[in-house]
Amino acid sequence: MRVNENILISSLTTMRLGGPARYVLETETPEDVADAYGFAEQFNLPTFVLGYGANTIGHDEGFKGVIIINRMQGITEENGKLKIMGGEYWDNVVAYAVEKNLTGIEALSKIPGLAGAAPVQNIGAYGQEIADTLTEIEVYDSFTKTFKTLKKDELNFSYRKSILNTTEKNRYFVISITLELSEGEMSRPFYNSIERYISEHHSTDFSPKGIREIVSNIRADKLPDPLEKPSAGSFFKNIYLSDEEAEAAENKNYPVYRGKDGNKINSGWLIEQAGFKGKLLHGFRVNEKACLVLINESAKSYDDLRKAREEIIAKVYDKFGYWLKQEPEEIQNENPRR
Ligand SMILES: Cc1cc2nc3c(=O)[nH]c(=O)nc-3n(C[C@H](O)[C@H](O)[C@H](O)COP(=O)(O)OP(=O)(O)OC[C@H]3O[C@@H](n4cnc5c(N)ncnc54)[C@H](O)[C@@H]3O)c2cc1C
Repeated sequence: MRVNENILISSLTTMRLGGPARYVLETETPEDVADAYGFAEQFNLPTFVLGYGANTIGHDEGFKGVIIINRMQGITEENGKLKIMGGEYWDNVVAYAVEKNLTGIEALSKIPGLAGAAPVQNIGAYGQEIADTLTEIEVYDSFTKTFKTLKKDELNFSYRKSILNTTEKNRYFVISITLELSEGEMSRPFYNSIERYISEHHSTDFSPKGIREIVSNIRADKLPDPLEKPSAGSFFKNIYLSDEEAEAAENKNYPVYRGKDGNKINSGWLIEQAGFKGKLLHGFRVNEKACLVLINESAKSYDDLRKAREEIIAKVYDKFGYWLKQEPEEIQNENPRR
């Protein structure tokens, strides 16, 4: 296990905010994970599990506890399934799968992050989510101090949710994930923006490799690379509506998508209509092409983010009556076991 002290959270997260973390422990074996929690317990310090930091935001005062990171890597094939250690970079997993002509995660190409974080918020994009192919995860249960296997059904997946970020938040450390992929191709119709790209570019290759290329091109055109432009990806969640709410929204001519996962309004559209497209708010640029993304251009503190967030939420609520909810997690000293 690698032990680091006083590391800036801004250097560990793609939004590039946050003061020092007292300890950052990088675990290279499952035993390291048990030891890391033992270390925190010995000194009575709170813990926070971090991956690549693409969906996590730090506070100015830092974290007076122990950040634990999964650095275990490797992809193995067992009984037609892929077992992936949680420290693998997610996009390498997608690249590995499409190279083997396996379908199921190709639309999740280029999502920044580590494999261990993928089930936490049930990553999703362009019509796929990890819940579609995940069969089980191996975890360390920090409450009972045991290693366990949790099956998909126990994870209670829904849009950007699982037990890992709701009812059992801060309990489990994901050691590995197992996916069941299949040979073949995604079936049509594809997600709207993929279909649009296909007709504009006359694409004909819908193999996993072909879809990976299309999704990568769409993303490169509209989403900022977090290594060049700090962001946490979508800063707000989309709005999901009941059938009655969807009908009411359609009566007001709001664009409602009725998909297999429910009725939704793209929150980026709400933010654009509220007049924020391309605007600079307290050091955060509302991304021109995908208004859900806030780019940290010159913000110095968490307070800048709080002000920008409040302005956007208030204006969208005044105009449309919907409350936007933040997607990224925060590393906080108070009530870390929320
Ligand atoms: C430019 C950009 C584009 C993005 N696009 C998408 C997208 O299309 N779809 C999408 O769903 N997301 C997207 N995201 C968000 C982000 O990429 C995903 O949420 C990703 O899974 C985060 O992985 P991470 O390793 O960075 O997690 P982190 O930000 O480090 O952690 C996220 C959460 O997972 C927990 N966690 C991390 N590792 C573990 C572990 N081993 N065990 C237990 N808990 C853990 C953390 O405690 C935290 O609560 C985007 C982000 C960026 C910056």
